[in-house]
Amino acid sequence: METSATPPRRTSPLVSRTGEVLSRPVTFQFALDPTAEQRGLFARCAGARRFAVNHHLARVKANLDTRAIERAETGEPVTPSLSWSKFSFINEFNAWKNGKLDDSPEADDGARGLSWRHEIPGDVFESASVDAAQALANWSDSKKGKRRGASVGFPRFAAKGKVVPSFRLRNRSGLGETQAVRFSDATHLRLPVVGAVKVLGPTRQVRRMLEAGRLHIYSATLTERGGRWLVSLTGVAAQFHPARRSTRDRHPAGVGVDRGITSLAVCADTEGTLLAAFEGVRELRNAEARLTCAQKALARTTPGSKGRTKAKSRLNRRHRKVALTRRHLVHQVSSWLVTHCTSLVLEDLNVAGMVKNRSLATSVHDAAMGELSRQIAYKAKWYGVEVTYADRFFASSKTCSGCGEVKSVLSLGTRIYVCASCDLSIDRDLNAAINLARWTPVLRATSST
Ligand SMILES: [Zn+2]
Repeated sequence: METSATPPRRTSPLVSRTGEVLSRPVTFQFALDPTAEQRGLFARCAGARRFAVNHHLARVKANLDTRAIERAETGEPVTPSLSWSKFSFINEFNAWKNGKLDDSPEADDGARGLSWRHEIPGDVFESASVDAAQALANWSDSKKGKRRGASVGFPRFAAKGKVVPSFRLRNRSGLGETQAVRFSDATHLRLPVVGAVKVLGPTRQVRRMLEAGRLHIYSATLTERGGRWLVSLTGVAAQFHPARRSTRDRHPAGVGVDRGITSLAVCADTEGTLLAAFEGVRELRNAEARLTCAQKALARTTPGSKGRTKAKSRLNRRHRKVALTRRHLVHQVSSWLVTHCTSLVLEDLNVAGMVKNRSLATSVHDAAMGELSRQIAYKAKWYGVEVTYADRFFASSKTCSGCGEVKSVLSLGTRIYVCASCDLSIDRDLNAAINLARWTPVLRATSST
């Protein structure tokens, strides 16, 4: 499945051997079917990652604590502060594991260094060092008020069983060289050190892109979820062919997208035409109901019992089911929108969460809208679609799409919008979608006066 990724930090875009400019960040995810031996190696790599992350966190925490004590005692810390940069973390860990530092581990026979370091690809340690440095940077930026969003605490130690087992391997090969991460055939992915791993699911699209020089893979992240190992291949791809980006056969006017109450999304244009209504809310709600059952069943079990282990794995499976169902449904909606429209108007999600009834629009539904917004944001760039977010004070549900009259109250159970001024009777979600389609910053300025 092709999804978006965080853009790589690079100033000039890559150009492949076929002359393609690779500037579109992408991620492809596949389920893996590793051998028992590979499973063992994956688990050891995930353990090594936790080990390296904890090594850095413990070092930084000890340093901070020492300095805090010194500051309290003498007013000025004597111990120098540690560098938290990614490079210094990588260098420190390499020296430490190779036995070059004073505090490096030492075996009984006098051999210095981490005894099991050669069993693990060096990349696992390096990417763990990078991740630890990033987590600390997030915490420090958050403390200084340099980071948006919810405040970030000191990174948590990666405890076994508490964090998702995961590690990352980089594709160090440049363009045109034999790639360290590559498909050896239709069903096998070659990874550095690990070798060929069996891949489940269709790989044709990604293989063709690689062959045509339209994709370059930066790294492979392996993650165990619900007992299954997945690989995410992150890289950059060429922009779509102009024919795919052409807006010729798409809806020319702005399209409003409203989160419906019984449907996932309702789309309408400025003329008041219903373009599409996507079902799927019931499916999501059923999945959530089964999830709740599994949570209750887990709560009834005895800690440490066999039943608890079983209940836990069932709960994990159901969590995954909800997430996958949501992602699948929302991909259908977002793909339809970016291939059928030229410009989209969405509601501001912060206000949408406040206005709509919690019991009607469940948390699952909220999460689906968040995911839809995320997917639209990256797919819109691929297809050249313009996306606008309606002002948070815009009452898309309460406004009459016929005459512009704004109701002061609209009960949440009301399925049909009936206007008292112009006698318009219209489906509530369609009415909201039409209003969103017509929304412009100017419109709001005039309607508020
Ligand atoms: Zn009206």
